[in-house]
Amino acid sequence: MPKKILVIEDEANIAELLRLYLEKEGYETAVAKDGGAGVAAFDAEKPDLVLLDIMLPVMDGWQVLREIRSKSKTPVIMLTAKGETQDKITGLESGADDYITKPFEVKEVVARIHAVLRRFGEDEKTSERVLTFDKLVIDMDSFELTVDGKKLDIPPKEMELLFHLASSPNRVYTRNQLLDEVWGFDYFGDSRTVDVHVKRLREKLEGVSDKWSLKTVWGVGYKFEVNGQSAGK
Ligand code: CA
Repeated sequence: MPKKILVIEDEANIAELLRLYLEKEGYETAVAKDGGAGVAAFDAEKPDLVLLDIMLPVMDGWQVLREIRSKSKTPVIMLTAKGETQDKITGLESGADDYITKPFEVKEVVARIHAVLRRFGEDEKTSERVLTFDKLVIDMDSFELTVDGKKLDIPPKEMELLFHLASSPNRVYTRNQLLDEVWGFDYFGDSRTVDVHVKRLREKLEGVSDKWSLKTVWGVGYKFEVNGQSAGK
């Protein structure tokens, strides 16, 4: 089911730009043009995430955020004007999940939405923080990797990358997806970063079991392949 994003923004051109771009990215959208309408739309639309402007007619973004937080943990990304550092601090204390400074690139907004929704989704399914395969235990709670009964010292990014791949066995990820989802959009590395980390992981995991492996999908990216499980999960 597509995720629904509620955009609360009084500047019609910005709201429209966000709406078009988000729908192109496969999201459902709802738009409200002032704070009061925003709170009403939040109740009516039950969005998965809210993009919330601060300077709004009727009720400002802070009030809207308080209203939302009084009844829900739904992720909220604030749209702040340039240089309003105090706004960010106020926002953090009022329970916003992230900030985007205007003027922004719509691409950046989409990357932030992905990151916040992913973080939120992971918080919701904490039980899946430990993955167990033949001779392999990936434990993200204690940040421990156990290979063939032995605990390995492993850098955090390698651990996160392995966990990310192994969370969806046989699903192919492109290098850019992995950069986005494991390193985050703030990271200005290139896709070779992914290759280097996969190579190091392989050195640790090669030949441990014939039931799973870290596979290169030529021209596409990588997957954590588990035998006997169909692809495309
Ligand atoms: Ca505004």
